[in-house]
Amino acid sequence: MSSNPSFTLRAVDDVVFEEKPIPQIRDDEVLVEVKKTGICGSDVHYLAHGRIGDFIVKDPMVLGHESAGVVYKVGSKVKRVKAGDRVAMEPGAGCRTCDYCKRGCYELCPDMVFAATPPYDGTLCRYYRLPADLVYPLPAGVSLEEGAMMEPLSVGVHSVSTLASLRASQTIAVFGCGPVGLVCMAVAKALGASRIVAVDIVPARLEFAKQYAATDVYLPPAPKEGETKLQFSERNAAAMKAALGIDGLDVVVDASGAEVSIQTGILMAKAGGTYVQVGMGAPQATLPIMALLTKQLTIKGSFRYGPGDYALAIALVGDGKIDVKPLITHRFSFEEAVKAFTATRAGKSEDGKGVIKAIISGPGVAISEN
Ligand SMILES: [Zn+2]
Ligand SMILES: [Zn+2]
Repeated sequence: MSSNPSFTLRAVDDVVFEEKPIPQIRDDEVLVEVKKTGICGSDVHYLAHGRIGDFIVKDPMVLGHESAGVVYKVGSKVKRVKAGDRVAMEPGAGCRTCDYCKRGCYELCPDMVFAATPPYDGTLCRYYRLPADLVYPLPAGVSLEEGAMMEPLSVGVHSVSTLASLRASQTIAVFGCGPVGLVCMAVAKALGASRIVAVDIVPARLEFAKQYAATDVYLPPAPKEGETKLQFSERNAAAMKAALGIDGLDVVVDASGAEVSIQTGILMAKAGGTYVQVGMGAPQATLPIMALLTKQLTIKGSFRYGPGDYALAIALVGDGKIDVKPLITHRFSFEEAVKAFTATRAGKSEDGKGVIKAIISGPGVAISEN
């Protein structure tokens, strides 16, 4: 097809469908016809606030970065894939020459070209161009929708497998049962964790986590009048240990970004354990430094994903160790993109159904095409 309809953010709460030129590919690039795109909290954040931290939307930007599609055209040097292949699309291209790229942590590349992170256009369009090594053929039996889910799943793989190095029989707590928390639990289950504790303040979310991947759930008590956040977190951690009959956990992942979760999480980690921060929320937090120090904890920040993460995510789904389908709660046509964003932003659709992940089909792609 000779047109490239795109869903563009022009300013806060101002989106438009527009026609963009079809990208020209270089020798080592591929052009993918985008079929399915998941809506992420970050897309919604740009729509609602026009920025995330230092990333500020100054010029119109196509939204979307969690995508899968079918290879439409390949550059002359590309051997990895061919036209017609169904692929998951890793949406961030490092520069390949900086220190970080060269030492194998391209997620830290200062010149990363990342879809729908200003100033770069995202994937809610018909044709998206990317380096050939960033498209991953989907195993037979893995749908394009599941292919789009490889992006959030890779965030879970990066946090739980790559950074926390969770091993079989270890224990983990995940604070926050949104999409990122849930994929972290799914990865922990696939890696053979003996106990996976889901923590959230919304009982319905805990229920979902329990039937999806968690072995235990924990609902924190309400804060008391006059109690500081750290006092609450100490009380909360003590209650959580008592409720679970444990002294701590090998790995703690915070996927909530809430200050009290961060504090409680550090208090819940076992001596010698690992704490990973993947949730974006409170820009600053007071940390229980004594606990961190005397327990000799390893604390890691987790940003996107790096070498091997996409491949492992696809392998885990392809081998049936992770099922991402239950996380897809809503499906929209390209024309209904605004509706998809409204529902994701509200956390529920008009009919009251809670949104975990909403998927938007590409331009002219039927919702049933998969
Ligand atoms: Zn995302
Ligand atoms: Zn680089």
